[in-house]
Amino acid sequence: MINSLLCARNALLTFASQTLKQHPKRVTSAIAALLLGGGGGAFALASYAPDASELPVREVLESVQALPLNVASDALDVQAFKLFRSEVTRSSDTADTLLKRLGVDDEAAASFLRADATARQVLLGRSGRNVTAETSEHNSLLKLSARWSADSDGNFKRLVVEKTPQGFQSRIESAPLSASTRLASGTIQTSLFAATDDAKIPDSIATQVTEIFSGDIDFHRSLRKGDRFSVVYETLEGDGEPLRTGRVLSVEFVNGGKTFQAMWFQDPVAGSTPAADGASAADSRSKGGYYTLDGQSLRRAYLASPVEFSRITSGFKMRFHPLLHVWKAHQGVDYAAPTGTAVRSVGDGVVDFAGVQNGYGNVIILQHRNNYKTVYAHLSRINVHKGESVSQGQNIGAVGATGWATGPHLHFEYRINNVYHDPLTIARENNTVPLSASAKPAFARLASENRVALSAAATLQQTSAQ
Ligand SMILES: [Zn+2]
Repeated sequence: MINSLLCARNALLTFASQTLKQHPKRVTSAIAALLLGGGGGAFALASYAPDASELPVREVLESVQALPLNVASDALDVQAFKLFRSEVTRSSDTADTLLKRLGVDDEAAASFLRADATARQVLLGRSGRNVTAETSEHNSLLKLSARWSADSDGNFKRLVVEKTPQGFQSRIESAPLSASTRLASGTIQTSLFAATDDAKIPDSIATQVTEIFSGDIDFHRSLRKGDRFSVVYETLEGDGEPLRTGRVLSVEFVNGGKTFQAMWFQDPVAGSTPAADGASAADSRSKGGYYTLDGQSLRRAYLASPVEFSRITSGFKMRFHPLLHVWKAHQGVDYAAPTGTAVRSVGDGVVDFAGVQNGYGNVIILQHRNNYKTVYAHLSRINVHKGESVSQGQNIGAVGATGWATGPHLHFEYRINNVYHDPLTIARENNTVPLSASAKPAFARLASENRVALSAAATLQQTSAQ
């Protein structure tokens, strides 16, 4: 695998050309404005004329890899004789319902799909798989194909059902996924996930964003209407179809008027990056990580929140306002979440207490360095025992309503020398790890490319809002 620096740069370089190739009609002005400079990989934003032929496609070809010569006429010159149609499979599909939605009227094709074990297994009884049919002008099936990514080995599978002189035949092929870069942005009106839905950002990318800034922003408590974000992320595609979500390459989040920026960086000398098969798994195997654009690592000694921000926890409200909490002096933060939601250690430490205490119910108290302690109360489940070492992010228990709780929630406290402190302040005040001197030039180059990509992403929203 190529290192992430080259990977990110190539992804950005190929982005414009791939978009033009696959979706010539759907190129937005903002994406097309992301013009590439002659070879240095520098970006420039330029005014855009809506004629794709005027875009500097040739420069892209020289910088990266040759595209097929028929790029521009892709599928256009055969449309008089063949029809293409795509549909998404439904779990209730039979051979007949699927072919009908694909506009295929062909009894031989239907009986083949009913009888062929390979085609049945790939297409029927499962939802969400994209299928493309190629038919004659009389709606008989010439070819049918579907793609999916089953393993994290960097490849995807392709089912092809094809009409031959001997009748229909099916086969399964394997080919490498290709990484491409997507830009998106949004503004929060009601919730983060409503905004990412509007921007067509996958949940895994939204969750990565909240994790990247988890030392700076407590997404459970600090989100404001009008907060906005721009994100540049990887998708892994097969034949141009997005099949798997990769990692966030760079992101900007404006929270309460304060701007936070981050980018993925891996020291080019440090070794190879695994394919983006889930950022957290990749993080633990490589030396890459997220940095501010001026080179400060975002890895912190303490996370701001003991509950991962997700679609479920973001929409969950307590039945009673935290102020109605029956405790006289409520010194802590309450996170409303359904019973069973995972609770994680905010930092490395040792279990000081794990058991029942009156008002707390089931409670875990962790001892960290420098007389720091964290308290996790009202749990429905405890996964650790006294004296055990825990690491940051480890699942230590589950949200519940034990003790004096008015409904399921996590009561969380931060104590230094037994005095309560605001978790977010603690998370922010911890020093970060600086970049090594040898990595700085490569970092600076990637950072300047990411700045341009993020401003291009931000214009996407303005474009769509017009
Ligand atoms: Zn509480």
